[in-house]
Amino acid sequence: MLLEHLNHRLREREAAALQRRRRTAESPCAPHQRVSRVDDGAERALLAFCSNDYLGLANHPALIEALGEGARRWGAGSGASHLVSGHSRAHAALEADLAAFLAPNIPGCEALSFCTGYMANLALLPTLGDAQATIFADKLNHASLIDAGLLAEAKLWRYPHNRVDLLEARLAACTTQVKLIVTDAVFSMDGDLAPLPDLLALAERHDAWLIVDDAHGFGVLGDRGRGALAHFGLASERLIYMGTLGKAAGVGGAFVAAHPLVIDALVQMARSYIYTTASPPALAHALRASLALIQSGEGDRRRAHLQHLVARLRARLQAIIARHPALGWQLADSPTAIQPLIVGSNSAAVGLAAALEARGLWVPAIRPPTVPANSARLRITLSGAHTDQDVEQLCAALDELATEGSPA
Ligand SMILES: *Cc1c(COP(=O)(O)O)cnc(C)c1O
Repeated sequence: MLLEHLNHRLREREAAALQRRRRTAESPCAPHQRVSRVDDGAERALLAFCSNDYLGLANHPALIEALGEGARRWGAGSGASHLVSGHSRAHAALEADLAAFLAPNIPGCEALSFCTGYMANLALLPTLGDAQATIFADKLNHASLIDAGLLAEAKLWRYPHNRVDLLEARLAACTTQVKLIVTDAVFSMDGDLAPLPDLLALAERHDAWLIVDDAHGFGVLGDRGRGALAHFGLASERLIYMGTLGKAAGVGGAFVAAHPLVIDALVQMARSYIYTTASPPALAHALRASLALIQSGEGDRRRAHLQHLVARLRARLQAIIARHPALGWQLADSPTAIQPLIVGSNSAAVGLAAALEARGLWVPAIRPPTVPANSARLRITLSGAHTDQDVEQLCAALDELATEGSPA
């Protein structure tokens, strides 16, 4: 019965062009990758615009070296959870580095490392959002924040995307003791920024706290890559910051930086912190090297190159869209490395991704429920490791496909 039922559900997804297929990388994460497909097993070279490795650090020699050194010093695994015996000096040193890095924006903060960003979010909302609390969450927040909100005992209100005005009215009427506003800093499927200065001002006016998920801003935005808070020049003890370490930082893991009492509450009560094995200390060791790189002149150069590529891609795509208005393509209004090209139907997005792949380009089609119905898109992500020629190759292929797809 289970298998029949699952088979039925899977066929429904297939009929709605929602089927997902994994590809297997045969070489490290980089713009030029060898990839094989599950269906035909054939291996091919693809130019990839799909990773979140925004600075091109995932395959950086200094991090590979640091990971090896970390393994030689700390072995392969941590052996236990942080509260039993898995918390190493490598983890503690990483947390001290992260707290110092974020301190300009969250004075007096401490940092706590997690195995993944998903788990950090599953720690934050249920721990801080108990039955005395209300959580106010942007409707376009990442899936991990949505799940975390459902796990929390707090009342949950999801506000329309970036609608500070509607949020203000609800905050003013809210009578629970604890109020938590939670938002992605850079929205993962649109690339746009949350109005963090307005949200922080609201938090201050209404005795609320602002939880910021900066998965796509940490390492990329702001002075020295300190992230979205630095980008907006914000500083407040009311900020609770979640950064991930598997995207721009190029390794894996995540952290929360916040007031020491918030950190202590997570250590004492967060189930996704307590009941899981600590990440291998070698990862923490490598992450310290990554953090140093992010803050260095090399980090600055990689961020500047990334910004240059974003501007170049946008200018080229806007010109293509202007020449082919009948296609109904839209470029999202994004200043970040996430540049979605919205094409509408699931089949249009999947067809375009397949046509690009046939030309040696790897750009993922993103469909509902990850994005709203009829806003299926190509999610183009750029990396500091891309060259101008890489971007040109993608735009030339899209230009060709737009010409082919346009009504004559
Ligand atoms: C990727 C992502 C996460 C999850 O982080 P992982 O470390 O990959 O688990 C959380 N929030 C946002 C906005 C993300 O994009």
